[in-house]
Amino acid sequence: MTSTNEFIELSERRSAHNYHPLPIVIQEAQGAWVTDVEGKRFLDCLSGYSSLNFGHGNPKIIAAAQEQLSRLTLTSRAFFHDQFAAFAAGLGDLTGKDMVLPMNTGAEAVETAIKVARKWGYEVKGVTPDRANIIVMEDNFHGRTTTIVGFSTDPDARGGFGPYTPGFRIVKYGSVEAIREAIDEDTVAVLLEPIQGEAGVLVPPDGYLTQVRELCTERNVLMIADEIQSGLGRTGDTFACDHEGVIPDVYVLGKALGGGVVPVSAIAADEDVLGVIRPGQHGSTFGGNPLACAVACAVIEMLGTGEYQARARELGAVMHERLRALIGHGVVAVRGRGLWAGVDVDPSVAGGREVSEALMRRGVLAKDTHGSTIRLAPPIVVSEEDLVWAVDQLADAIAEL
Ligand code: PLP
Repeated sequence: MTSTNEFIELSERRSAHNYHPLPIVIQEAQGAWVTDVEGKRFLDCLSGYSSLNFGHGNPKIIAAAQEQLSRLTLTSRAFFHDQFAAFAAGLGDLTGKDMVLPMNTGAEAVETAIKVARKWGYEVKGVTPDRANIIVMEDNFHGRTTTIVGFSTDPDARGGFGPYTPGFRIVKYGSVEAIREAIDEDTVAVLLEPIQGEAGVLVPPDGYLTQVRELCTERNVLMIADEIQSGLGRTGDTFACDHEGVIPDVYVLGKALGGGVVPVSAIAADEDVLGVIRPGQHGSTFGGNPLACAVACAVIEMLGTGEYQARARELGAVMHERLRALIGHGVVAVRGRGLWAGVDVDPSVAGGREVSEALMRRGVLAKDTHGSTIRLAPPIVVSEEDLVWAVDQLADAIAEL
C-alpha cells in the first residue's frame, strides 16, 4: 500500500509546485469529514475554498450528477440541450437577473465580466473606443489569468507574469472616496469582492457596499460583485451583497455553483448589460454543459429553500462567538460573516502554516491565507458539535505552539 509520504513524493516529482499543500493525502469524504489514505479522519474546515458549501457527497447533488452522467454529459454550445433552459432560468431567478452566461472556473467568469463591462461601456455608455477602465481593489483576488494577475497587488500572484493588460485602476478596499476619485468618463465598472476572501476574510465597513452601489448608479458605472467565494450561502445569505440589500449590476459566481462535483461558473446580469454579447464574441467548449447544468440546478434548488443560508447564519454565530473568546489568548482579531472567518493568530505565537499543521495533527483541516491568518469555512452541513470541537482544537493548537 502506498503511504502518505510516498504519495506526496510521487505527486511532487511530476507536477509543478504551484501549491504548498498540507501533508495529507485524502482518499474519500462524506459531509464535513474526509478520510486520508491511512484511514485517519479530519474535519474539513476549508471546503475546497468554499466550493463544498453543501458538503462532500451531498446526496441531492450526487443524485443529480449520476442521473445526468448516464444520459448526456457534453454537447458544446453548438447545440441546445435539455438541461440548459432550467439552469438559465434557475440562476436568473436566484440572482434576480434577466440573463446568465455560464463558464467553468471562477477566473473565466471574472474575465467574462470584464469583457462584458468593456463592451457595455463602448456600446451602451458611449466610452471612447479602447479607453475603458475598470476600478479594482487593493488586496483583491479574482483568479490567476494573465489579465487578472496584472491588477493583483500580491507580488507572488503578479510578479514575473508581465506585460499586463492595461485598463485597470487599483484603489483602497473599503473607501468609497477612493473609488469616487478614480472614476472618470471612461470608467465602465467597479469590480469588487463584497468580502475579500483570499486577503484574509476582510469585511468592508458597514454601508460600504450601499455607497458603492449609489456611486455606480450616479456615475453610470457597472457594479460587479465577485461572489465566487462569498456567495451561495457561505455568509448566511444567498449573496454577501444581500447583507446590505445591495443588488450589483453583475454577479460573478463559481465554486459552490458546481456543488463540489464539477467546475461551474457564471455571470448574471440584466439584458441591457449581458445583451451586448452576440454569437462568436465569447464562449467556452465546456461552459454550460449538461452535467454542469444538472448539478448547478440541484445547487440552485437547495439554495431556494433558504435552509442553508439560515444554517450558515446560526452556526456562524456559534463559531464567531467562540472564536472571539480566543482574542487575547494567542488570537489578535477575528473577522467574517456567517460560516466564514479569518482568524489572525498573534504572529509572535506562530505563523499561519504552523497553526494549520498543528490543527491537522489534531484532525482539523484549515489553511492559512496571508501571514498568520487562518481561514475557517467548514461545509454548511457541519454539525454544531463538530464545529465547536474544531474551534476547541484551534484554541488548543495555538496554546501548544
Ligand atoms: N474570485 C474569487 C473571489 C475567488 O475567491 C477565486 C478563487 O479563490 C476566484 C475568483 C478564482 O476562481 P477559480 O480558482 O475557480 O478560477
